[in-house]
Amino acid sequence: MKKEITASMLYNLVSCPHRVTMDLFGDPAKKDPINSFVQLLWDRGNIFEREVIESLDIPFTNLHAYSEREKERLTMEAMERGDTLIYAGRIRADDLLGEPDLLRRQGNGYVAGDIKSGAGEEGANDGENGRPKKHYAVQLALYTDILEKTGFSAGRVPFVWDVHGDEVVYDLDAPQGVRNRVSLWSVYQTALGLARKLVEKSEKTKPALAGQCKLCHWRSACVKHLEKLDDLTLIPELGRARRDAMWLYIKNVKTLSESNIEEFIQGKKTVIPGVGSGKLHQFQERARLLKTRGARPYLKEAVALPSLEKELFFDIETDPMRDVCYLHGFVERMGGDNGTERYVAFYADNPTLEEEEKAFADAWEYVKASMPCAIYYYSHYERTIWGKLQGRYPHVAEEGEIAEVFNAAETVDLYTDIVRKKSEWPTRDHSIKTLAYYLGFTWRDKDPSGAASIEWYHRWVETKDEEIKKRILEYNEDDCIAMRVLRDAIEQLNIGPELVF
Ligand code: SF4
Repeated sequence: MKKEITASMLYNLVSCPHRVTMDLFGDPAKKDPINSFVQLLWDRGNIFEREVIESLDIPFTNLHAYSEREKERLTMEAMERGDTLIYAGRIRADDLLGEPDLLRRQGNGYVAGDIKSGAGEEGANDGENGRPKKHYAVQLALYTDILEKTGFSAGRVPFVWDVHGDEVVYDLDAPQGVRNRVSLWSVYQTALGLARKLVEKSEKTKPALAGQCKLCHWRSACVKHLEKLDDLTLIPELGRARRDAMWLYIKNVKTLSESNIEEFIQGKKTVIPGVGSGKLHQFQERARLLKTRGARPYLKEAVALPSLEKELFFDIETDPMRDVCYLHGFVERMGGDNGTERYVAFYADNPTLEEEEKAFADAWEYVKASMPCAIYYYSHYERTIWGKLQGRYPHVAEEGEIAEVFNAAETVDLYTDIVRKKSEWPTRDHSIKTLAYYLGFTWRDKDPSGAASIEWYHRWVETKDEEIKKRILEYNEDDCIAMRVLRDAIEQLNIGPELVF
């Protein structure tokens, strides 16, 4: 039987086409166990959907309890009758199969909708003007396409009911933005075309190491495959698009490390679309670091770290599903002496606004009382979240006060200011985990990750098990210490490149 194109297939394809290939044809025995954070996302999604449906105060046709085959028949019957709202229907046309959470009558036809336990748009959580999420759009477009093919469509305006209780309409024919004139319907058509080729095996895909691999059940299989290929995406920040563009000229890390890249360079550009000469040099340098036994990290220019008596290494933990910042952790060190280190944490026992505010206010008082001090953090996240908390609780601190702390010369974003701009490392990425492991640091927890800690926090909220809280705090403390390890290592780096011990 020919494999249908489904909404979840398109959802995955948008972030990684290889995921679709693997789900269709990969050896199930090679799958990693489902990540506990992914399981949490599924569970939360199901609970949220149930809550939304239970709270509906309008009549609707509920097909949730029926078998797949029954759902299809009953959905058609309900639409032919003109039922106002259909929950958990199943629709099909040609090779397309869709299970929209909702089908709502509009005029003489239907529009499809999904219930999502996240924000309906990209960036909407941060108070910015949101942009449509492509992975939501391709799902909604598939339902709309089926409705058009079966003669039930009321237009290309499906919707999402999101976690904030908003209805977000996806105008599929509208351009995505002022600069990007491509409509979401075109994005869908492209994704659908590729999905069909993958199903027919007329197009092959390759894995590409990227952030989303961390939560993917094919991660181990893909990493093994990438290592065998010596794939270019093993180079930090190179990515799938550049790898594919470079493929004509350079096929793997070793070749790049040994190539005379000058032959590809024309002034500031190269013959490779999307890769400038500066980037090509940088990627070659990273390829050499990966391929040289005993290669050492180095600075590309001198770095002056603050030399204050007191240092704070600062890391926060947030739960994006509840939109709450539940922990502000600091490791405090005096005079560069690790023996003086102490961990200070401000923790919200419950994910409420009151407790979030208290943890933020206490952390802010602690930072003010610690001045003068150097503050280290890793990537813009801490700054973004403190800015957001200031906006949510303006009486805790003024906008200018928070900005002043993060803009101070003594406050250092180790990732943005130093690792990314001013240094090179013989590693596959520049996450704090990867760099601290490289430097010999190990976390006490056997499964340390931000995603895992969110799952722990959910269990803590449900059970109030002190062991879980201890695990969260230890993990956060180790993240802070990892920053101290990195900071001290950076201080010891030479200006390079310095390839061999
Ligand atoms: S591990 Fe990465 S490359 Fe492999 S299928 Fe998953 S997302 Fe794609």
